[in-house]
Amino acid sequence: MNALLTATATELAARIASREVSAVEVAQAHLDRIAEVDEKVHAFLHVDTDGALAQARRVDAGEITGPLAGVPLALKDVIVTKGVPTTAGSRILEGWIPPYDATIVERMRAAGIVVLGKTNMDEFAMGSSTEHSAYGPSRNPWDLTRTPGGSGGGSSAAVASYQAPIGIGTDTGGSIRQPAAVTGTVGAKPTYGGVSRYGLIAFSSSLDQAGPCARTVLDAALLHEIIGGHDPRDSTSIDAGVPPVVEAARHADVSGMRVGVVTQFKGDGYQPGVLARFDEAVAVLEKLGATVEEVSCPHFDYALPAYYLIAPSEASSNLARYDAMRYGLRVGDDGDVSAEEVMAATRDAGFGAEVKRRIILGTYALSAGYYDAYYGQAQKVRTLISRDFAAAFERVDVLVSPTTPTTAFTLGERVDDPMAMYLADLCTIPSNLYGGPALSVPCGLSDDGLPVGLQVMAPVQADERMYRVAAAMEAALGSDRLLEKAPAL
Ligand code: GLN
Repeated sequence: MNALLTATATELAARIASREVSAVEVAQAHLDRIAEVDEKVHAFLHVDTDGALAQARRVDAGEITGPLAGVPLALKDVIVTKGVPTTAGSRILEGWIPPYDATIVERMRAAGIVVLGKTNMDEFAMGSSTEHSAYGPSRNPWDLTRTPGGSGGGSSAAVASYQAPIGIGTDTGGSIRQPAAVTGTVGAKPTYGGVSRYGLIAFSSSLDQAGPCARTVLDAALLHEIIGGHDPRDSTSIDAGVPPVVEAARHADVSGMRVGVVTQFKGDGYQPGVLARFDEAVAVLEKLGATVEEVSCPHFDYALPAYYLIAPSEASSNLARYDAMRYGLRVGDDGDVSAEEVMAATRDAGFGAEVKRRIILGTYALSAGYYDAYYGQAQKVRTLISRDFAAAFERVDVLVSPTTPTTAFTLGERVDDPMAMYLADLCTIPSNLYGGPALSVPCGLSDDGLPVGLQVMAPVQADERMYRVAAAMEAALGSDRLLEKAPAL
């Protein structure tokens, strides 16, 4: 394979800065790679060839410099891009061209990052396999009969198949970390409010968080610093600087760190090969000088049910804006009909089954008479989960667990079984409910030859801790080279 494709983002930026290679050459190599393999992987919904080359030329002209200037990126299609189609994986937004850029897109453009295109995802980020995309599923580069995870499976599949060195995902219940785990890549969910949500199409606003996908921990950290930091246009944005994640990724030292192993995440439903790699990863941390203890977080057992009340409730409200009047699709508007009829026909035609299921669940949970029993109760559980985290972080610096109970599942296997699909996010959801940062770093292959992820969870605004642990793991296991074991595409 072309060495420009296998290089890390850090290496590419250095070679572009020293003029050893041009940003245009780097962009073209990746566009050619997309043309060669994406028919099989289906990571991209839209490739912006002209926009990518124009941005690369700006970098080559010396107009923009920086740690990732000239580096190509795969952008999840839930982030709005001025003049570039944005669908969130839904028919209801087909043909919509946003009139503005998300804050993180502005920041990436200003940093010289070259956005190659928009990546596939479950509709409105609801799902764990990309099979709920209105545009067909993405495939896992490790095994094309399997899912690359979801909802951001497109970005992770693009990074894992060398179509882009870095990507952007969004994580409401695990959609950055779970795809990272099952594709053998790195995915980080920053602290809630640490990265602007302005221009992120809302699913569940109290949980949604954008973050980096990459093949190395350092690349993820560099991207994190570029997109992170306060944004006055997002009222939930934290008014503080980005935690020192790049410095942490460069100092892979865990000696003296206190690591807590969450006792809830094992047992039935966990693949033995996943648990074996996880136990080995913990042993490695201990060997590197970390102290390890078991930590019980009893309310984590209720995270999944609480999430499936809170997230659909917020979604039912957020998705009310797709009313056939303001964006994208309009169906049944043939003269003698009411606005309500057009709205109903459009929403019926434009939303897929999973999105409808969530709207119905959420509307029910918020309805008068049930509000306290469902939504109110779920919010109380959310508080108890945050207290579990707070108590744990009095004793340990980070918590660790497997990122997912199993390796990548087969396309079709869970698509008609919502409960089985939801279980893919069993270990990732607590951090979203709490708001703290969490990351997945590869920790080897399971017995089935598929990648396993180690999840590292840290306290709110202590994102640097998870990068430290992940960088140590990567250095000890050589997990930045894991993808070399994937069958060639
Ligand atoms: N799979 C979870 C869901 O379907 C999480 C999705 C996400 O993080 N966007 O809601």
